Amino acid sequence: MHPPPRKLLFPATFFILLFSRPCSPARPFPDRLSAVELQNDVRNDTWRDFSKYLDAGMGSRVTGMSELKRYFNRFGYLPSSGSDSWTDDFDGEFKSAVITYQKRLGLSVTGRLDSDTMSTMMSPRCGVSDDPPPGVDIHTTRHYGYFYGRPRWNRSAPLILTYTFSRDDMIDYLSMSDVRAAFEQAFSHWAAVIPVSFKEVYDSKGADIHIGFYSGNHGDGEAFDGVLGVLAHAFSPENGRFHLDAAETWAVDFKREKSKVAVDLESVATHEIGHVLGLAHSSVKEAVMYPSLSPRTKKVDLRIDDVEGSQALYGKNPNFKLDNFLQSENSSGNSIGASPASLSLLTLAFIFVLVHLLNA
Ligand SMILES: [Zn+2]
Ligand SMILES: [Zn+2]
Repeated sequence: MHPPPRKLLFPATFFILLFSRPCSPARPFPDRLSAVELQNDVRNDTWRDFSKYLDAGMGSRVTGMSELKRYFNRFGYLPSSGSDSWTDDFDGEFKSAVITYQKRLGLSVTGRLDSDTMSTMMSPRCGVSDDPPPGVDIHTTRHYGYFYGRPRWNRSAPLILTYTFSRDDMIDYLSMSDVRAAFEQAFSHWAAVIPVSFKEVYDSKGADIHIGFYSGNHGDGEAFDGVLGVLAHAFSPENGRFHLDAAETWAVDFKREKSKVAVDLESVATHEIGHVLGLAHSSVKEAVMYPSLSPRTKKVDLRIDDVEGSQALYGKNPNFKLDNFLQSENSSGNSIGASPASLSLLTLAFIFVLVHLLNA
């Protein structure tokens, strides 16, 4: 089976996605669609173009499927083959990896490479593996998770974590004050729900959390991969390393940064701080700790799943009121079945369709 010519790929993918399943208001598809479209435009070594595998299932053989096996291995779904010899066969082991992935990412469990699964795999995401801790029953964990051993910062109260920016590892198109403001906001989301406060310090040696932007291989065995693909990663407690991929177009304001591959700094920072605190990935799509984030998307408000996960580790901030939180969560947009963010993605997706049709 040969992949269709690139020029035809997007319209074909769009119509497959449009008609392949009902458009449920609770799970609007445009964020997935925009990810597919973006990946056709922006080449990435990790992601490549996975759409040629659409609808592959048990027994299929598609040239290059070993790439998908490498992806599943990279994010904790397939054990290493012991050599570099992944085959292109959709075998039983691969099918169970697909099923586990679908469960962990909150997708319909079909065991096939359906459109939802493929577009989720092609979405930019966090580099931290989704590997659940040994012994965790995958069937029952449709929510937040922890790293193996459930590590947290063990200090006497009040818990104050200090952070510092590595001045040699910043990006030149954002000012230090913009970066600092985005991080202050990101830390404040967590500080509002747990009794932990965060304070910037300038003594890089003494800080708990070390933040910087890095390119490619940067010495921790988790090389970054260029535009989109992996966006960032952070280490579990009490390591404190917090790395962002310098190849991304980081944005603090989408009105100012027009690039269609722009990634919201505060959103990614909020997610990675969750890892720094000890949270692993969540399978709740709306949660900040869900592993993927589409470009030009702001996702900074903690959801109840994030709150419960962090409070189970650190307890509750005395000023946190669950009722107020639930009220604001409910009023923040799901009453008509789509949040403002997903509505803007809908607009974005249709702009992509128009642009593509005009260019065809
Ligand atoms: Zn992550
Ligand atoms: Zn790193």
